[in-house]
Amino acid sequence: MSNVSQDYHLLAATKYSPRANGKAKASPVSMDIEQIFGENTFGLDEMKARLPKSAYKSLLATIQKGEPLKPEIADSVALAMKEWAIEKGASHYTHWFQPLTGSTAEKHDSFITPNKGGGAIAEFSGKELIQGEPDASSFPSGGLRATFEARGYTAWDPTSPAFIVENENGSYLSIPTAFASWTGEALDTKIPLLRAIDALNEQGVRVLKLFGVKGATRVAATVGTEQEYFLIDEEFYYRRPDLATCGRTLIGAKPPKGQELDDHYFGSIPERVLACMLEAERELYRLGIPIKTRHNEVAPGQYEIAPIYEEANVAVDHQQLVMLTLQQVARRYGLVCLLHEKPFAGVNGSGKHNNWSMGTDSMNLLDPSDNPHDNMQFLFFCAAVLRAVYKHQDLLRLSVASAGNDHRLGANEAPPAILSVFLGEQLQDVFSQLAEGSANSSKQGGLLGLGVTTLPHLPRHAGDRNRTSPFAFTGNKFEFRAVASNQSVALPNTILALIVAESLDVMATMLEEELAGKKKSKKGFEDAVGAVLTTISKEVQPIIFNGDGYSDEWHEEAEKRGLLNLKTTPDALASFISEKNVKLFEAYKVLSERELESRHEVMMEQYFTAINIEAETLEMMARTMVLPAAVTYLNDLLSALDDAGDIKLTGIKKTAEKVAGLINDLCEGIDHLNKENQDAKETLEANVDHMKDEVIPAMLEVRAAADKLEGCVPFKLWPLPTYREMLFVK
Ligand code: ADP
Ligand code: MG
Repeated sequence: MSNVSQDYHLLAATKYSPRANGKAKASPVSMDIEQIFGENTFGLDEMKARLPKSAYKSLLATIQKGEPLKPEIADSVALAMKEWAIEKGASHYTHWFQPLTGSTAEKHDSFITPNKGGGAIAEFSGKELIQGEPDASSFPSGGLRATFEARGYTAWDPTSPAFIVENENGSYLSIPTAFASWTGEALDTKIPLLRAIDALNEQGVRVLKLFGVKGATRVAATVGTEQEYFLIDEEFYYRRPDLATCGRTLIGAKPPKGQELDDHYFGSIPERVLACMLEAERELYRLGIPIKTRHNEVAPGQYEIAPIYEEANVAVDHQQLVMLTLQQVARRYGLVCLLHEKPFAGVNGSGKHNNWSMGTDSMNLLDPSDNPHDNMQFLFFCAAVLRAVYKHQDLLRLSVASAGNDHRLGANEAPPAILSVFLGEQLQDVFSQLAEGSANSSKQGGLLGLGVTTLPHLPRHAGDRNRTSPFAFTGNKFEFRAVASNQSVALPNTILALIVAESLDVMATMLEEELAGKKKSKKGFEDAVGAVLTTISKEVQPIIFNGDGYSDEWHEEAEKRGLLNLKTTPDALASFISEKNVKLFEAYKVLSERELESRHEVMMEQYFTAINIEAETLEMMARTMVLPAAVTYLNDLLSALDDAGDIKLTGIKKTAEKVAGLINDLCEGIDHLNKENQDAKETLEANVDHMKDEVIPAMLEVRAAADKLEGCVPFKLWPLPTYREMLFVK
């Protein structure tokens, strides 16, 4: 066997030079944010400049107030959009949509229309803007659509801006769309999100009306996501079949140095990585995505990027673009961006923090205030979120369930699989007192106002550093921290909007009933709100937890409190189609029973397939890479023993015995894994359980033997880049 692990780590370390790579210039590229921001999106300014006044006004009403789109304006929008896109160098357009694969999809059509003279003109009609018909019969539909019965169609989402995607050889116009079957069933992640946002709007406005807020016509969910990711040199990536096929390493011994020294977190950003980040951010600015923060994360080779929050629907689309852009730009620097939740065992995995709030044009409804009336309103909305999380732990848990995220949740680096809410000491105290019906003092001694006086001054960001909580109040928003790094944030935000809408609905009805028996007065209103808050606060006490979510005591305590602990994806997915959830989704017209069943099936299928592919990849690597390397080494040892003559080679004999033992373990593991992975069951449910209960443990057996071999087989024989190289060569 030839020497394989030769010089590629040196190549990885030295081939990047800031002068020779990418578009690096002798002097830094200027980044005039004001000038470039949004230059590749068809935003409001562009629309205003190019559309007839009436069309602009009508479109604005759709975008900003959620009014239905007037079909008659489509032609003028299409014309303006096409002219703008062509000026930007676009020759094609695509309806960009988000099927149940979790990623995005596109099919390109050119603007070209041949004319009689043998030439061609660029055309794009309102009809083409509004509706497309990709032959999309191969997307997962979970049985919603037999291939013979119907193709899906895409429908323009005017609330998310169209954008230009550039390539060295041309550009195209990308139009965010929803994807449905001809029978009107949702085949994507956007439709239920938009429906849930509507439900939240309706109930939010209803509550604000009860509170007498004038002119509140719209309540929107706002979302800001912090994305964690790894960057490694592409030399390593393409030499690892597991990374290239599964996005994570399936074997790999722990390096002598991992993240123990905490020297990476918030450290200075390596030059090549910074160059890559700067270019990615520049691209994102041009797409109108307000990136705000970047830093090194906990694990070596791990980083984070975060934008300023936006309305949920746009934020979800933009999050997809952040992931796509990071992956594309990384390649220009000889890097690969890993978005898997757990690319490397033994160091931190990657997640995504989904910061969430709701608000009107002028007001964040989860922002506590000093004014007593607004205070009550804040507590009311905050209580609705608490109730939503408590009542629907199952849904939040399954909204982040995937084979990849099972490596993180509960693994003492990410929040546990148990849902609880961190409120901070002071707000927790407020809700305890409310539960007792006497919320008029606070830990800080000031009087708490339910109209009596003001809510104690709640310091923003107080205590929001409890990283062990899956759902934390951080001053003026909640942070859902269990989200997976490579998932679309559409489902978590659909569920959040839906369950908070339901809570607001229930609480608004309670409030109306309380008010019905009372005189119309300030005091009467305050008493009624107080009564509702007391009932809800009592109910939600079990979900409130400020302590250490990683501790064993919490697991015991949570069980006593009756909280769910759905440890794995199969455990979590079952409740998607429970009676409670079907009723909930149908009541707010977010998903029908059939649509829910289809999603359940797709998620089960994805889990099964992901693990099946990992198992096959691992078997192949173990058989064709690890085993031959180990056998070569054993052979070398045995030849040495053969040739020893009178020399005593006890050490070599011992080593040979050890290596032989590990080879035997490896072979047994491979056979076991092969047998389990071939063992197909009758139903999808049974296959999923089989993956969880038999295939994953068999993979770990193979890994254990392979990782031990990595520790003794000569480096020059080892056919795979090691953790030491992948995580530290920058
Ligand atoms: P921290 O550093 O404490 O996690 P930041 O203030 O940096 O919090 O915010 C983290 C994320 O939360 C950012 O993306 C930010 O835009 C977002 N965020 C802030 N306010 C809101 C809000 N009202 N709704 C949704 N997200 C928000
Ligand atoms: Mg955060």
